[in-house]
Amino acid sequence: MSDKPHQNLAVIGHVDHGKSTMVGRLLFETGSVPEHVIEQYREEAEEKGKGGFEFAYVMDNLAEERERGVTIDIAHQEFDTDEYYFTIVDCPGHRDFVKNMITGASQADNAVLVVAADDGVQPQTQEHVFLAKTLGIDELIIAVNKMDLVDYQESRYDETVEEVKQLLKQVRFDTEDASFIPTSAFEGDNVSEESDNTPWYDGVTLLEALNGLPEPQPPTDAPLRLPIQDVYTISGIGTVPVGRIETGIMKPGNDVSFQPSDVGGEVKTVEMHHEEVDQAGPGDNVGFNVRGVGKDDIRRGDVCGSADDPPTVAETFQAQVVVMQHPSVITAGYTPVFHAHTAQVACTIESIDKKLDPSSGEVAEENPDFIQSGDAAVVTVRPQKPLSIEPSSEIPELGSFAIRDMGQTIAAGKVLGVDER
Ligand code: GDP
Repeated sequence: MSDKPHQNLAVIGHVDHGKSTMVGRLLFETGSVPEHVIEQYREEAEEKGKGGFEFAYVMDNLAEERERGVTIDIAHQEFDTDEYYFTIVDCPGHRDFVKNMITGASQADNAVLVVAADDGVQPQTQEHVFLAKTLGIDELIIAVNKMDLVDYQESRYDETVEEVKQLLKQVRFDTEDASFIPTSAFEGDNVSEESDNTPWYDGVTLLEALNGLPEPQPPTDAPLRLPIQDVYTISGIGTVPVGRIETGIMKPGNDVSFQPSDVGGEVKTVEMHHEEVDQAGPGDNVGFNVRGVGKDDIRRGDVCGSADDPPTVAETFQAQVVVMQHPSVITAGYTPVFHAHTAQVACTIESIDKKLDPSSGEVAEENPDFIQSGDAAVVTVRPQKPLSIEPSSEIPELGSFAIRDMGQTIAAGKVLGVDER
């Protein structure tokens, strides 16, 4: 690990707009493709008489290996710049990307949005930008990519920038927090080096923009919260729940509580990367073992917290939601699936309490009959099964959710307050 500040970076955008290629390019140009991989490719390239060892060759091979399932996955890859140590928290093209983004399994601090100049804003561009905004991405760097395909035309770049700015306005993302760069991930324009192909552009390269991101806020001193992703049985150890610590610290000897399953005990061991550790903190993926807690006592979607400040279980909760896309209208009684951290629970929107003016956030209407795409509202929600969730103001990491229905993310929101069971 580097001692530079750490940044979790999401790379988002419509399929085929060049996210994987951009990540590959970043890894390659920051010298972060593992040495043995480079060496292997260099040898292969020479054997095949391909002469020059080039980025395209690396990308082709990465793509091929992905297809063969010998994944040198670009997700969870790491690279560093002068200022920061970056982890790509989710991958380009991963089918579960949207879900991961929501469940916090991959909470990103900042994001690069890739928009192909020849294709412009597309449905997934919208979906990802909307989620980025709702889930609290601080800054967005927009790579207007595939500039080589539009002959590096300034006019096409400007059009794409305008389209994206419109979209940012729609979701109320402050355009002050967005920077735009004309790139070609494939040719390497304005990624780490200024391009001669865009003389009309005098802004920063993508790497410079990454260096210029604000430093992520250090994790709060909130109590331990660890959403459970899976529960394993490992011979010799017993039951091993695994998950990512969102807040707080876990140490052997701690008393913990799993909610809503409502069991608990003393932590015996904590493991990270298959090694026992004395303690683990925010961002660490851990497996651990708790005295007296068996495989059938707990499940994915439970949250493990400290016994003296256990995770909150909601009877109902109030939330602010933004409706992204819904074919008709949402009325009281609607019961879609809520995705919060690792939990998926059907929840009824019991009442729509206020409609908000999207531009000012002020109350536009009390107790409206319905809300629809583009609306922001305060609603009261009743989970149909016990759900552990926290007010966003207290533990933001456990206070956001997405609402999915018909295979789509239709809304996202954050928890304002919880009525405990
Ligand atoms: P993703 O689905 O967003 O990850 O897109 P990929 O990175 O897989 O790229 C999709 C296709 O676009 C691939 O064939 C890439 O080689 C190509 N591509 C990506 N970036 C560029 C670019 O800047 N210029 C050109 N011409 N093609 C690109």
